[in-house]
Amino acid sequence: MLTTEKEVLTVNHFINGQYRQSATKKTFEVHDPSNQRLIAIVSEASEEDVTEAANSARQAFEHSEWRTMPLAERCAKIRRMADIIVERKEEIARLEAMDVGKPYQHAVGSDIPRAAHNLRFYADFVEKQGDEAYPMDENFINYTRYEPVGVAGLITPWNAPFMLTTWKLGPCLAAGNTAVIKPAELTPLSVSLLGEIAQQAGIPDGVVNVIHGSGKTVGTWVTEQPEIDLISFTGSTVTGKQIIKNGADTLKKTSFELGGKAANIIFEDADLSKAVPTSIQAAFLNSGQVCLAGSRILVQRTILDEFLEKFKAAAEALVVGDPQDPKTTTGPLVSKVQYDKVNYYIELAKEEGAKLITGDQPLQLSDDLAKGYYIAPTIFLHHDPNARTCQEEIFGPVVTILPFDTEEEALAIANNTDYGLNGVIWTENLKRAHRVSYAVRAGTIWVNCWFVRDLRVPFGGFKKSGVGREGGRHSMEFFTEAKNICISLN
Ligand code: NAP
Repeated sequence: MLTTEKEVLTVNHFINGQYRQSATKKTFEVHDPSNQRLIAIVSEASEEDVTEAANSARQAFEHSEWRTMPLAERCAKIRRMADIIVERKEEIARLEAMDVGKPYQHAVGSDIPRAAHNLRFYADFVEKQGDEAYPMDENFINYTRYEPVGVAGLITPWNAPFMLTTWKLGPCLAAGNTAVIKPAELTPLSVSLLGEIAQQAGIPDGVVNVIHGSGKTVGTWVTEQPEIDLISFTGSTVTGKQIIKNGADTLKKTSFELGGKAANIIFEDADLSKAVPTSIQAAFLNSGQVCLAGSRILVQRTILDEFLEKFKAAAEALVVGDPQDPKTTTGPLVSKVQYDKVNYYIELAKEEGAKLITGDQPLQLSDDLAKGYYIAPTIFLHHDPNARTCQEEIFGPVVTILPFDTEEEALAIANNTDYGLNGVIWTENLKRAHRVSYAVRAGTIWVNCWFVRDLRVPFGGFKKSGVGREGGRHSMEFFTEAKNICISLN
């Protein structure tokens, strides 16, 4: 449970159905990025705590009724978790806003309802699945069962902690696995509640465990733990590579959702009344700290001036301020490290010769918020698609606009990246929409829209944006082992 003492929360691990401190009693601090206020003291796991969490999940997998209980009963408990999340959505959204710096309105209106939907969706999904049968003439019949793998390590980043954790927890639990969750050290608050929510929903102790601490220590112990069978990871490409290495000795099954640098291609026939506001969302939602951000905006030169004028005005109309204020559209960056990193890229863009369109105007912030990690929505007009600011994931409210003349040129720029998570295309020409969708090397293409999510569809990245897919049956395949049973009919 989260307990408050003089408005500072105490956050402990949730292991085998109980909140508890670390064996070493070590803790770390969490601060509100909008004003640097200390908001939580969090237990920092030792290797012993990680082992205990893994053992608890193993015991629950092998010996509790979780994986063998009737599917309808298991799914009812997962749906109950979803109901509790909806009942507590304001509280969870407040924590998320305080921890991440994400506007409360966005958390309460989007992230938290989506988290409930993640759980409900997978409970519904598994109940509707059948298994395959392969008869061999009259002599034999094969049929395939999908069984849970075992103990899953779920490692998630700080930009959407609650939503992304439930996106993994839903299929993990629906398949009958048990879990050890490690949220990002920067943002542990909302995810910590998943322990008590699971318990309130009647899920047996040990099925859902949450441990806290840094990726380099606790994350590494999770990926090396012999009792953990699979790792579902969302985070940076650099960490993904490290997890593959660290999980090699214990032959972990892994799934990776990694970084992005999406091209948002705006052709001259685009409907700018839709393309501009949606591109603003794609650029600056959650202060640009979104893996799917359309951070490279490719604009056909014939409409460049018109687009720049409208896009600049819309960016300057965003309300940068207190995440808890319902009027705020743009909060702070999550941390000092992220703030420094984004400022570094702003200076780099200037050195690369990019033209600053907007971003240097002073922000109107109260004295309290002046201590926060705020950066104004920043737009550069760039001329060099190979420049570092057009190649590297900035993960902040900074976009580069790259003009192009022809479709071929747009495609060459769009695909000139190590990433391939998603792409966005704006055109009223149906043939071009399909042609360009086929040619952009990315796992999701949105045409005349962005971030429209149907949880049945495959979600994941080409190239260095990921390995494997989440969503619908893709997540279920990851969280299950396929078993074939062959029966003689003679
Ligand atoms: P990160 O540094 O890779 O961290 C992600 C998680 O991994 C955190 O919980 C982190 O813990 C942990 N971690 C770090 N080092 C680890 C290690 N050696 N072993 C095991 N775990 C380790 O990423 P981030 O900066 O939090 O998140 C931003 C990145 O996530 C961006 O690249 C973004 O594009 C990507 N992302 C991708 C998607 C997607 O669906 N493709 C969605 C959201 C975000 P600590 O933070 O406590 O160190």
